[in-house]
Amino acid sequence: MPRPSTPRSAVSAKRALGARRATSSSNRVQVAVRLRPMSTYDRNTEQAIFVEPGNCIALGRDRERKFFYDFVFTEGQEQVFDSIGKPMLADAFEGYNVCLFAYGQTGSGKTYSILGGNSRESEGIIPRFCRDMFAMAQEKLDEDPTLTIKISMSYIEIYNEKVRDLLEKKKSKQAELTSLEIHEDTHKKVYVEGLSIHTVINYDRIRKLIDFGNSQRQVSETKMNEKSSRSHSIIQFELSQKYDPPTPEKRDVESLLTLVDLAGSERQSKTEATGLQFDESRKINHSLLMLGRALNSFSDGKGAFVPLRESKLTRLLSECFGGNARTWMLACVSPSAFNYSETVSTLDYAQNAKAIINKAKVNSLQQRLELRELREAHAKLTELYDMEKDKVRQMAERMQEQDDELTALRIENAMLKKNLEDVLLDHSRVRGELETARTRMVEIAKETTVVKRTPSASNMQYIGRAKVSLRNIIEQTSNYLTLPLVSDVPGVGDGAQLIVNIYPVDSKGCSTLDNATRTQAKDLLGHRVDFVVHIISARGLPKKFSHSVYCKYVYKWAEKDSYKTNDVADNCNPDFDFKKRFAFSKMNQGLVEYFQSDNVITFEVIGKARPLDEEDGELPSPQ
Ligand code: ADP
Ligand code: MG
Repeated sequence: MPRPSTPRSAVSAKRALGARRATSSSNRVQVAVRLRPMSTYDRNTEQAIFVEPGNCIALGRDRERKFFYDFVFTEGQEQVFDSIGKPMLADAFEGYNVCLFAYGQTGSGKTYSILGGNSRESEGIIPRFCRDMFAMAQEKLDEDPTLTIKISMSYIEIYNEKVRDLLEKKKSKQAELTSLEIHEDTHKKVYVEGLSIHTVINYDRIRKLIDFGNSQRQVSETKMNEKSSRSHSIIQFELSQKYDPPTPEKRDVESLLTLVDLAGSERQSKTEATGLQFDESRKINHSLLMLGRALNSFSDGKGAFVPLRESKLTRLLSECFGGNARTWMLACVSPSAFNYSETVSTLDYAQNAKAIINKAKVNSLQQRLELRELREAHAKLTELYDMEKDKVRQMAERMQEQDDELTALRIENAMLKKNLEDVLLDHSRVRGELETARTRMVEIAKETTVVKRTPSASNMQYIGRAKVSLRNIIEQTSNYLTLPLVSDVPGVGDGAQLIVNIYPVDSKGCSTLDNATRTQAKDLLGHRVDFVVHIISARGLPKKFSHSVYCKYVYKWAEKDSYKTNDVADNCNPDFDFKKRFAFSKMNQGLVEYFQSDNVITFEVIGKARPLDEEDGELPSPQ
């Protein structure tokens, strides 16, 4: 970007910043009225509009009606630029959308105010504005190497409700400009589709573009104006300021500067238009009518529907009325009586515009920056979160490990406890067993004592046994027997004997031995057999057990029935002399076999010791 052509520009740019803050910090649409000098448009009529102090416009010679505005201009171009252009520029650099409307009937000085004449002094707002804009941009660029400024421009006209790009490069001079569509982007921002945008780096380029655009404007010959009074023209600049890197103090901003030269607001009758031109006039008026209605809607304070979509103009510039922009209206009026009614209408119109409150804010790049910062913060937080998550995961893993270890330990513990319990149980069982054993031992010891103290049966008595067959009875022979007695207790009564005689007798009990006939067993079958068992005596019984002695015997087949001798006292060789006769009325084979078998009769010699209390001897001593 070139350095500013004159130092004056930079100074005025700085002043512009101050001027804005001093004048219109509010969001209300700022309304200025410019009273042009008398000219040929006034047909030599008298002046009917007057300026009074306090930005007041008074009507008629008697000042019957008065209007008050934010500005009233009667002087040259510089006054207008200082009051409107500079604050606009300052706001634009701060990142606000700014908008200027030039309103008024044809020939009232709209184009003169916006673009101006060819001399430097007669230059309108745009040339001055552009020069200052570049000067200010250069100044800012010099101050901050991190800043990049980009300025681009577009130029359109709305004619006959058609939007056209005045900077469109037509294929031929005769070809018509393309009619473009108005759309809304995803952020509800209105834009013209296919509009050419031109990046500019100095005013010369802008001038050339404006001249080129003007050459393509719809020009119609009418009595009121020899040039472009039938269409609205809109010049837009986009100013973007970006910092690399951005900081909280230096935020990227972008702003839209819109300068609108409206078509003449006069009623069609005055233009003496007919035919096609009538239709044009009607449509022009439709746009202005809608703009007027919009202004009325804003100003009646009822919050009624604002019909901004009703025309291309109001739709395209909807942000400038009640939206995100700081807006100025420059109402241009003629001072003459000839244009009186048009002037009053314009003044009313301007009055209404004063009521419009916009909602201007520094533009989206800040939000974009905030978004970027938020994204960065988000990324950092995400990173942190991931790190923390990782830590948490590691901790969780460690906890899990510890948990597992704990579980293992618990299991091991339980096992150990169980083992311990078993051991303890074993221990107590063993102790119990020991206890039982000890008890048993004590009992045994006691028993032993008792045994030693109390004589056992074997200590008390002697039993000697002897067994015999009855074979001799079958043979019918006598059997005088000396039987050795076998003792229960080994070594006691060895050599003791029992002397018995078993012999057959006849049915009268007389001995048959005299017959001396031996018989065969078969001879006895079916016959009666009698015999006698005679216990004669015993010999050599143990002395100790001879206190009282007897003998008894039993048969094998009837062990319950025993036969017993009398007791013999104090005799180791007792004589029993006990006889008993047995009779079997009819022998059979079974009986024969029985008689012939061994041990048919069992003798027992029982000898008893002297009772302890009777004994003189000492007791056995306990162990
Ligand atoms: P509009 O655009 O409103 O139809 P113009 O800006 O074309 O009107 O003005 C019509 C004529 O009046 C032009 O020749 C212009 O130079 C002249 N004129 C308008 N306003 C002024 C002014 N304030 N000082 C000097 N000449 C002016
Ligand atoms: Mg004009």
